[in-house]
Amino acid sequence: MNISVAGTGYVGLVAGVCFAEMGHCVTCVDVDENKINLLKSGVSPIFEKDLELLMKKNYLCGRVDYTTDFQSAYRNADAIFIGVGTPEHPDGSANLSYIATVARQIAESIEKDCLVVVKSTVPVGTNDKVEQFIHDFLVHDVRVEVASNPEFLAQGSAVNDTLHAARIVIGTESKWAEEILRKIYEPFNLPIVSVSRRSAEMIKYASNDFLALKISYMNDIANLCELVGADIQDVAKGMSFDDRIGSKFLNAGIGFGGSCFPKDTKALEYLAKQHGYELRTVKSAIDVNKDQKTVLFRKASKRLITFHGLKVAVLGLTFKPGTDDLREAASLENVPLLLEQGAEIFAFDPVGSNNFAKVHPQGANGKGSITYVGNIEAALDGANVCFIFTEWGEIKAVSPKLYKKLMRTPLVYDGRNIYNLKDMKLAGVEYYSIGRPGST
Ligand code: NAD
Repeated sequence: MNISVAGTGYVGLVAGVCFAEMGHCVTCVDVDENKINLLKSGVSPIFEKDLELLMKKNYLCGRVDYTTDFQSAYRNADAIFIGVGTPEHPDGSANLSYIATVARQIAESIEKDCLVVVKSTVPVGTNDKVEQFIHDFLVHDVRVEVASNPEFLAQGSAVNDTLHAARIVIGTESKWAEEILRKIYEPFNLPIVSVSRRSAEMIKYASNDFLALKISYMNDIANLCELVGADIQDVAKGMSFDDRIGSKFLNAGIGFGGSCFPKDTKALEYLAKQHGYELRTVKSAIDVNKDQKTVLFRKASKRLITFHGLKVAVLGLTFKPGTDDLREAASLENVPLLLEQGAEIFAFDPVGSNNFAKVHPQGANGKGSITYVGNIEAALDGANVCFIFTEWGEIKAVSPKLYKKLMRTPLVYDGRNIYNLKDMKLAGVEYYSIGRPGST
């Protein structure tokens, strides 16, 4: 099939390349010329395992191409997938302006029957409006329908998640649309859940917000564990054997970040409010998460009083390992608090430093300063305190002894519960983590 994909971000690019890998003929469209030039040269603008490999393979055999020329990309497409961003407005509602722009571009370009498939996460009812919008601006007399096909990939494992998804959700309002989508996904050989368009839109939010709730619940319980002397890791282990609960998403930490959970929780709460309903569970997940992001800073502030003039090692900047994405990362909340007090930060991240430096350039910064270093040793050397914000493999591999050896005072605040309490104690490290004895 001839498929075009609008947006070459985490969702659009991965989907486009995976469709090509499955034998479809794909054109990826973006308004960002730099991105398209990079893609054409075989370089992925985002860090995702195996993505460049599949990009090169499918580009060389002519199954995938990249362009800013949306008209030629959309004109003869059998299906156009929309994977542009839907960031949050300040009031928590979803910003649908990028979706609206693409819808209009599609309407003005298509010259044959075409299924438009929205992969972006959009509030329930949006796709009805997108369909209406396209019909309003349609230039040629062609059949066009809109389907919902929400994306469930996780950054860091996006290619694998797409090729081996647990399920493909398709939301359609006609047999015609359903059959096109079934045909597109046939080579993937994955379970397909076919529902109405509105239910598909809701499945996405309900799934993401459930996961966010699970994280906030565990963080809430972790905070109580600290107060009553229980260990959240033992508690999670005990819970995980119950398959009604499951073993995933039970890790306590410094809260959820990324481009999805924070905005999708707020967007669903907003949608409910618009319908006169208060979504109390989701609201609680948001509130707990807001506090959790700075829990380490508060703990360290109690111990150190001020960070003025202290050398602070920061290990991990991205919102999770395996990605260079910083959106809603805990580091973005904590680093400004440290700088505001005059900390001298030495930060290490295997892939996120360049993006972080766009927000906090190297050198003097507020009352403090920030230096990006290329290895963990340089961050720890002579440090008064260390914060761990992301559980990258190379950070997890650091021996407790190294903190004792390199730091001026071996004081570690770990937001990802990487270390065994006994190992840190044996190595002579003063160690604070989340929801475990001695963590306050
Ligand atoms: P992103 O910001 O990484 O990428 C969006 C891309 O769309 C950008 O490259 C931008 O230049 C491009 N774009 C904007 N307007 C355009 C236009 N008119 N035509 C063509 N391209 C245009 O976004 P993302 O992280 O891939 O997320 C996209 C959507 O998918 C969002 O709704 C998000 O909630 C959802 N989603 C994201 C993830 C994730 O892990 N990132 C997972 C599931 C769902």
